[in-house]
Amino acid sequence: MAKLLEGKIIAERIKEGLKKEIGGLPRKPVLASVMAGDNPGAEAYVRSQQKTSAALGVEYLFHKLDKDINEAKLIELIQGLNADKAVNGVILQLPLPAHIDYKNICRFVDPEKDVEGMHPANMGRLICGKAKVLPCTAAAVMELLKSIDVDLYGREVVVVGHSGIVGKPLALLLLDKLSTVTVCHIGTNVAGMLEEHIRAADILVVAVGKERFINGELIKDGAIVIDVGINRVDGKIVGDVEFETAEKRAAYITPVPGGVGPLTVTMLMRNLVEIAKQKK
Ligand code: NAD
Repeated sequence: MAKLLEGKIIAERIKEGLKKEIGGLPRKPVLASVMAGDNPGAEAYVRSQQKTSAALGVEYLFHKLDKDINEAKLIELIQGLNADKAVNGVILQLPLPAHIDYKNICRFVDPEKDVEGMHPANMGRLICGKAKVLPCTAAAVMELLKSIDVDLYGREVVVVGHSGIVGKPLALLLLDKLSTVTVCHIGTNVAGMLEEHIRAADILVVAVGKERFINGELIKDGAIVIDVGINRVDGKIVGDVEFETAEKRAAYITPVPGGVGPLTVTMLMRNLVEIAKQKK
C-alpha cells in the first residue's frame, strides 16, 4: 500500500520559513491578483491565495474584472501594477475569458514581478538553468519529490499533460536532474501509446483535468504517483488518477485534495518573497 505524499504537511513547513523571512523584510510584500470573469477553479485558488497571504503577512490586492473586459483594458491594468512601486508581484488568474489570449497577455507582466514564472523571459531563464522564479505547480511537484529524497538520475519519469504551466516547465526541471522524461498528451493517447508509457513510469505525474482518467491497474509496482488534476465531482474534489487501485501498486501517491494544491500556493508565496528580497 502506498505512502501518502501529503503536500499539505510539506507546505506548512515551508510556510513557517517564509513567515520568518517576511518578518525580516522592511515592509509587507504586496501581491496583486487579477481575475477576469467567474470560474469556480480560479475562485478556489484565489481563496487559497488570500488565506495563505493573511497567514504569512502578505498584502493581497485583488482586482476582479468583468468577463467582457478587452485586452487593451487588461494590459492597461497590468502596466499600472508594473509601474506601482508598492506592488512586488502580479498574478493573472487562469482561465482568462476565451477571447483573451493568455500567451499574449502574460508577456505584459513585468518579468521582475512575474510571481508565476510564466513570462517568456522567465521561461527562457528556466531553459538556460538560470531561473529566478519557477512556475509554481512544476516547483510544487519537484518539492514533493525532494521530500522523499528520491534520486531522479536516470529514472523514467512520465508526465501526462503538456501545458505551459505544468508539463512543459516540469519536463525542463526534471531534465536538469538527468531523469529520462517522457511528456504525453492528447496526441499520445490518439496514437494509442499512452498505456505503454504509463506502465513504464518509475515516476508518473498527471495533469490532464479529467476525473479518474488514469486506470490505477496500469501503475508500475513501486512507482511514485503525483496527481496534479483538480476535478469537481458531486461537490467533491478528485484528481485524475483512480486512487483506490493506484495506491495498491504505488510506493507513494499524492492525495487529492491535500497533495499538489497546497504546495502550489506555497511556491507562489516563495516566489513573491524571493522578488521582495531582491528589492530589499
Ligand atoms: P490543460 O488543459 O492546459 O492541459 C491538459 C493536458 O492534458 C494537455 O497536455 C492535453 O493534451 C492533455 N490531455 C487532454 N485530454 C487527454 C487525453 N484524453 N489523453 C491524454 N492527454 C490528454 O490543463 P492544465 O492547465 O495543465 O491543468 C491540468 C489539470 O491540473 C487540471 O485539472 C487543473 O485544474 C489542474 N491543475 C492543478 C494545479 C494544482 O496546483 N494542483 C495547478 C494547475 C493545474
